[in-house]
Amino acid sequence: MEEYQKDRYNTSAVTLSKKLTRRNFLPVICQNLAEAKEKALTWIEPDKTVGFGGSITVEAMGIIPDLYARGQTMIDREQTKTPAERYQVMRQALTADYFLTSINGISEDGELVNVDSVGNRVAALTFGPDKVFAFVSMKKVYGDLETTLAMVRRQTAPLNAWRLNLQQTPCIKKGTCGDCLQPECICNTIAITRRSMAKDRIVIFLILEDTGL
Ligand code: SF4
Repeated sequence: MEEYQKDRYNTSAVTLSKKLTRRNFLPVICQNLAEAKEKALTWIEPDKTVGFGGSITVEAMGIIPDLYARGQTMIDREQTKTPAERYQVMRQALTADYFLTSINGISEDGELVNVDSVGNRVAALTFGPDKVFAFVSMKKVYGDLETTLAMVRRQTAPLNAWRLNLQQTPCIKKGTCGDCLQPECICNTIAITRRSMAKDRIVIFLILEDTGL
C-alpha cells in the first residue's frame, strides 16, 4: 500500500474513532493485522473462553492457531464432526468470554453493518459474549449509512457467494445481487448496530491496511 493511502486511512480512523466512542464502542487503531493480533492476544486472559465467527480477516490474522498454541479454551465449530454438533457449538460460542469476528461495513458516522447467513455472528455482536473483538480494515468504511448498506449488499455479499461457490444464487448466475430468496441465500439478516448498550463491550480494531472482503 502507498504511504499516502496509509496516511489517509490513519486520518480517517482518528476521525471515525471519535464517532465510535460516542456510540459506546471501543476503537483501537492498528497499523496492520499483526499489531491487532498482538494486542488481542495480550488482552485476552489465558483462563477465558474464546469463540469466533466465520471471517476472512480473523483467519488471515492467524490468531486462532496462536490461541490454541497457548492452551486457550476454544469454542470452535470447525472441530465438530456432525451438523448437529456444529449447531450446538455455535450456540455455545454465544456464551464465550470473548468472541472474535469482523464487520462487513462501517459508516463514516460509526454505525456497524453486517449481512449474516446463519445469524451467529450478528447474534454474538448483539448479545451474549462478555467482549466482542471485531477486526475491520479501513477499506470497509464506505460513507453514509445508505452507501454502506449498498456496498455491503452489492459488493461484499456477492463476493462471499462467489467465495462459497453458491451456484444457484443470482450472484453467480448473473454476477450481481438479485435480492434473492434462494435456499442458498447468505443474506438472511441485515443488521445495523448503531450503539452498544454496554460501554466498551464491542472493541473495534481499525486496521490501516486492505484486508478481508
Ligand atoms: S441476496 Fe441473494 S443474490 Fe443478493 S447477495 Fe445475497 S445471496 Fe446473492
